[in-house]
Amino acid sequence: MAEASITFLGAAQRVTGSCALVRMGGQRVLVDCGMIQGGEDAEELNRAPFGVNPGELDAVVLTHGHLDHSGRLPKLVADGFAGPIFAHPATAMLAEVVCRDSARLSQSWDGGALYDEATVERMLRLMQPAKYGQTQALGGLEITFRDAGHILGSCHVCLEGGGKRLLMSGDVGARDTPIIRDPTTDWGGAAPFDAVVIESTYGNRLHKGRPETLAEFEEIVRAAVRQKAVVLIPAFAIGRTQELLFQLRNLEAEGKLPRVPVVLDSPMANRVTRIYRDHVADCYDAESRALLATGQRPLRPEDLRETTSAEESKALKKQAGPMIIIAGSGMCTGGRILHHLKDFLPRKSTTVMFVGWQGQGTLGRRLVDGAKSVRIHHETVEVQGKIATLNGFSAHADRDALVAWARALPGPVGRFLVNHGEPDGTRGLVEALGQAGLGAASAAEVGQVHAL
Ligand code: ZN
Repeated sequence: MAEASITFLGAAQRVTGSCALVRMGGQRVLVDCGMIQGGEDAEELNRAPFGVNPGELDAVVLTHGHLDHSGRLPKLVADGFAGPIFAHPATAMLAEVVCRDSARLSQSWDGGALYDEATVERMLRLMQPAKYGQTQALGGLEITFRDAGHILGSCHVCLEGGGKRLLMSGDVGARDTPIIRDPTTDWGGAAPFDAVVIESTYGNRLHKGRPETLAEFEEIVRAAVRQKAVVLIPAFAIGRTQELLFQLRNLEAEGKLPRVPVVLDSPMANRVTRIYRDHVADCYDAESRALLATGQRPLRPEDLRETTSAEESKALKKQAGPMIIIAGSGMCTGGRILHHLKDFLPRKSTTVMFVGWQGQGTLGRRLVDGAKSVRIHHETVEVQGKIATLNGFSAHADRDALVAWARALPGPVGRFLVNHGEPDGTRGLVEALGQAGLGAASAAEVGQVHAL
């Protein structure tokens, strides 16, 4: 079969819900199967059919474990998919945590749970772990994972078959993200790609540098310590939380911060942190390995406390500061951060520190946009505390880094298809790739079939 094509089933003109159907080498493969997050239509979209019959798919390939890339996999299984799911071993473990969590969380959805734990178990039995650089053969298709430097186990996916070569960027990491390695520059040879699908979360923006961001972070924490105040950090359980723990430990070790209680108030983040600690050999960068080699623990600030119950979490409001509370969810759409916001937002001394991307329509986005009051659990909560947004911790490459990533690919690239961004981000990257002279670039549209 000579036919080769890619069809976007999600994350085109939006950031979440990554899902693309690749037909290549006689195979039909879904790359990612993510949850749509944020916006009033999210639940409806998550329940909608996939745009492909799951029973007719030959395999699924997962780029990484984030919810917006893996969260609808159990639904795919419930709807009839029974083939292999290729994923990095760390991704398989993270996807388990993520899908169990969303099975539980979706129980409170208006229309009932999206899937149950038993379906998550069925999904887990389909997992076929594949390491970086290892090639999986599936009929006439070869699939190879390369380190994407975004979170633990994150991958770029190279698909080759029928004389065509396709690269799916997945989420492209920012250089110098601690703990994990930078995005790879090793593509297993110089053969050019016929098409490259590239994400554009920050396709129209530049991040502040990490050193500058760290200085801001340090200053906020120092001020809180002086005022015996509370810093609330709505953090994504995967990636960002571990980076924060790393940075806090580092600042303490360098004598830049005094020892301050850090409360990791998220059972999920605790589980994920343990998965991070289990993947040193295959995923850690040289710096973190060197720390471990000298007996230090890169993810453990001196006074790290892990809450073990919801009661313990709720009692934090009575505790005297200074204190840093890291709690999910990262966009304040659920989880323990909600009761902390209710308790601490009305206090002037509080700082809420946003360290990650906030989707449109989320509580986090409203706070970042300067809301004077917000609704939480049917109550109006006054925003008296300070809102700080630190974009430099992003686990995503910004516009210039995406262009640099594209420039470093073996060329010439046939064409770029830009996905995984809000319309401004996608447009920004299409233009930037065009200006850089790296080849034709166009925005991905849901449902559109692109012949390769
Ligand atoms: Zn991601």
